This record gives sequence, C-alpha cells and structure tokens, in this order.
Amino acid sequence: MGYNKKTYALGSRRSVIREIFEYSKKRSAEIGADKVFDFSLGNPSVPAPKEVNETICALLSERSSTDLHGYTSAQGDAGVRNTIAEKIRRDHGVDIHKDLIYMSCGAAASLSISLSALVEEDKGDEVIVFAPFFTEYRVFIENAGANVVVSQPEDKTFQIDISDFESKINERTKAVIVNSPNNPSGVVYSEKTVKLLSEVLKRKSAEYGSPIYLIADEPYRELVYSGVTVPYLMNYYDDTIVCYSYSKSLSLPGERIGYIAVSPKMRDAENIYLSVCGAGRSLGYVCAPSLFQQVIARCIDCTSDVNIYKENRDILYENLTSYGYECVKPDGAFYLFVKALEPDAYAFFEKAKAHELLVVPCDDFGVKGYVRIAYCTDKKKVVDALPAFRELALEYGILKA
Ligand code: PLP
Repeated sequence: MGYNKKTYALGSRRSVIREIFEYSKKRSAEIGADKVFDFSLGNPSVPAPKEVNETICALLSERSSTDLHGYTSAQGDAGVRNTIAEKIRRDHGVDIHKDLIYMSCGAAASLSISLSALVEEDKGDEVIVFAPFFTEYRVFIENAGANVVVSQPEDKTFQIDISDFESKINERTKAVIVNSPNNPSGVVYSEKTVKLLSEVLKRKSAEYGSPIYLIADEPYRELVYSGVTVPYLMNYYDDTIVCYSYSKSLSLPGERIGYIAVSPKMRDAENIYLSVCGAGRSLGYVCAPSLFQQVIARCIDCTSDVNIYKENRDILYENLTSYGYECVKPDGAFYLFVKALEPDAYAFFEKAKAHELLVVPCDDFGVKGYVRIAYCTDKKKVVDALPAFRELALEYGILKA
C-alpha cells in the first residue's frame, strides 16, 4: 500500500458510537424515530443561547465580508484573545496575558496541539489518562508520539485513585490529562482530589528534575449542576495547560471553536506557548474560524441552559436507581455511567438494543462492564425510554414485577 498505514488503520478502525449512530438511523426509518431511544451521541440538545444567533446577524451586517471572513493572526485575533484573558482573570483570578492564549478548533484540536507541543519524539514519553476517559485521547496521544498509560479510578466514586496514579508515574511521564466534568462518568473531580493530584505532580516533577505537565480538558466546565464548582487547575498546579471549547457550553460543536491557555505561572511559559504555536502551525490548526472567534468574544459570559440537562439527569438517575441500576450521580456534563447488568458490556448493549435502547458500551473508555447514557436529548425521549429501562431491569431480575 502506497499510503500511511497508521492513518489508514485509524480511519478503518471500528467505532462503536458511529455504528450505533448508523443503526439508529436505520432503525428509526423502520419503526419510527419516536420508538428508538438513542442515547449514544454527545451532541448538545439544548439550543445555543439566543445571543449567539443575534451576534452572528449583527456581525454580518456590521462588518465587511472580507474583513469578517478573512484570516486572523495564526494564534487568533488579538482582541478576542484579550477578552478571553480578561474572562480567565475575572472568573479564576489567574493573571494571564492574551499572548498565552491560542485560538483553536475545539478541544480536540487543542489537545492535539498541546500534546504535540509537549511530547518529544522517540524519547518514549508517556501520557497518563484517568479511566474512564474520552476514547479519542488514545488517538491524540499516539499521534503525538507518546504512549498511553491508564490510571484506574476509585471504585464507585470514579474519583482519581491517587495511589494508583502515583504508581503509574516514572521518569518518562511527560503529561497527564484531566477531564472534569468527565466524559463518560459525569463526575467532577473534587478539590481534595485536585490538591492531592497536584501534590503528587509537584513531588514527582522535583524528583525527576523535569516538569510533568497537566493538561486540563474542559469542554464541560460550564455544564455543572446544583452549585458544584470545578476547581481551576492553574490555581493548584503551575505547569498547566487548559484546553477549552465552546462545543458544549454554547452548543456549537459544529463550529469548531475553543482555545488553549498556557498558565502564566508555568516555568518557561513563553517558550511553551511558542511550542503551542509551532504545533498549531505544523498540524494546520492556524487561524481558528474567524466569524466564531468574534461570536464567542461577544458572548463571553453566555452559557446554554444547563437546567434542561439537569432535568434529564434527575429523571434518569432517580428512575434507573429505583429500578436497581447502579451508577454514580453525575455532577456535570450530560452522561450517566451505568453498570451493565452482566459483566460483558457488549452483551448488555445487545439486550438493551432489543428494547430499542441505544447506549454505549464503555470498554474502550478504560473501564469494563459499564455503559454510557448520553442524556443530551429531549426530555420526552428520556421519559418515554423509562418503561424500556424498567423492562430490561425485570428481564435481568434486578427488579421484581
Ligand atoms: N474532550 C472530551 C472529554 C469530549 O467529550 C469531547 C467531545 O465530545 C472533546 C474533548 C472534543 O470536543 P470538541 O468538539 O471541542 O473538539
């Protein structure tokens, strides 16, 4: 074959979520979309705040087409980066300058860029991820030339197991990715967890004489319930890079907009930022979508209506646990991580499918025997699905008729 074997393997590798998505379309055509309960995709169901569309219209009339749709600086428009830096200063008290902010195409691009900026090729670098983790991390890490090391969570709470984490660190550990609120568990890592994690990282960085970088993957930061706060990692650990995205917080996943923020407290912050710029350049992620840079700057304090997700969470959590399902109550994101009713999550998925329930088996997320329910869908769909979840519980005998 005269082409890249690595990218071919990636493109042709089976994706469970994609297969479920295709099945869902086919099944909906057969029996009607209202009878298929598809909880597979993390696509926001809440509309973007009205300010987003209003801002788009205003920008289209205020600015000339060539100006609005033209190239910005490679690292993003200076005014937009300034607005983001101010927001970080205001919300988190971190004294960051716009020249440590890099506009990117969502969290996926931010992660790829950050990893490429940090990983040294052919050094056997390792990057630690905390199970359960977003499956694409493996692609981004391996593509950057590092090896993935998985740290297993605490039983039941799905918080980071600090002693397991510490046992996974060695002199090759280059970075650690933290995703909170978490996809797929919905867990928000507590301040206690974050402090312990930071202490370990500081101690180990000192022991090996080189920094272990913390990459905070934060597309769900704003999607939290009941007043839970998400610790801002730059305030706990200096060698932090934040990968932020507006895909979920403003319901704009198709517009591919987000940013990378390099902590000003990082030793060598300016050089790391230059490395980020170089990685963005080499990967072709320069000049993030121009219109949406302007939109997010004007909508900087807006968030999609989180209460709609919270309602779905409450309905699902309360009913499923009353039927006997086991899951941790999610404090954020829009996922419920449910223990499958038999050890093989794929076998459980097939039995759920027979009830038209489409959930995602999570072995690839690093924890076996669980499925993910993405409740970013209509409330009616959630309510209509409850009898099917109940039937499934009866079938497995965890609920008595
Ligand atoms: N990180 C996590 C944990 C995600 O769940 C997702 C998308 O679902 C991403 C990153 C990528 O998000 P984006 O659309 O901003 O690229």
